Amino acid sequence: MVQKIIIGILATALIAVCSIWGYTEWQKRQVAAPVAAVVPAPVKPPEPVKAETELAPTVAEVPAAEKADGTHFTYQYVSPRNPELLAMYNMAREIDVLKQLPEIKQLDGWLTLPRPINFIAAECGTTNAFYAKDKGDIVLCYEMLELLVRQGGAMAQASGGGTRDQLEYLMANLRFLMLHETGHALVDMLDLPSTGREEDAVDQLATTLMLSLVSADESQGDIAQKLQLASNFFLMTDDGNHDMATYADEHSVGAQRFFNLQCMIYGNNPGKYLRIVTSGRLPEARALRCEEESKQITRNWMRLIEPNIAPKHRMTREEEAAKIAEIQQKQVENSQAPYMR
Ligand SMILES: [Zn+2]
Repeated sequence: MVQKIIIGILATALIAVCSIWGYTEWQKRQVAAPVAAVVPAPVKPPEPVKAETELAPTVAEVPAAEKADGTHFTYQYVSPRNPELLAMYNMAREIDVLKQLPEIKQLDGWLTLPRPINFIAAECGTTNAFYAKDKGDIVLCYEMLELLVRQGGAMAQASGGGTRDQLEYLMANLRFLMLHETGHALVDMLDLPSTGREEDAVDQLATTLMLSLVSADESQGDIAQKLQLASNFFLMTDDGNHDMATYADEHSVGAQRFFNLQCMIYGNNPGKYLRIVTSGRLPEARALRCEEESKQITRNWMRLIEPNIAPKHRMTREEEAAKIAEIQQKQVENSQAPYMR
């Protein structure tokens, strides 16, 4: 039955390479959260002992250039030994695929980490993507790239789409996959607490980041659609024939990961994404608690991430308000442009 669920593929954007700004959007959607929990505390530079009447400098009084930037990532494409993977290597380099993932771009330099995360595309001998704890590497295997290209092609063909749809499927899945692995890296490097299965937690982080770090160039609807493409991967790789090894695995089964994602998307804005329920992609019984679940997950992840935002990228409430207004204005302008989708 699960396999019969239809994911609509809409022919839309080419790769979304946007300069994203996200903390404000993230906060803005957390209306139910206590303000103190999501607004970063003003960062004070080191200061000498002062008289009590002297005011401490506020964040706005310190030039941005003087505030510490976050940890920047590295990116690398390793040439494969297997000639059959050369096409993937060439494509990855040509697109510069590791640098086309909006949330990774946002996180690059945004957080203060004990060491850089190294994003590496390489031959692995297996179809996978993973975080290598010992080196701080996040590895995207060319074999995984090949699988996604193949799946994207099959989906595009089945829906009467073309290369653009195939590319969109590929990039949406890479976006989610690499964020999932980044979640593992953050849990490790920042020693973030996680009860329950880490695999589920980092799926939640990937979804939260995609739903929260939205720029003026990409609408909430665009993001939801890309998350749908990414969630489809879980259905395509779950044939429903589960043995003991599947149940014992550290990952939830594909169908569960699919429904968890639907719940997060729907719960992010039930009014806007009601169709996820009415189309049958999310059973009503689960949908009832998704708004609460989605908000709680987002709020909890924000609490974990927020203290690690580099001083340079923290904002005062006034700066937040100005940025919200600027982005909302751009979104209005974009929606009025006659040739934009
Ligand atoms: Zn994982």
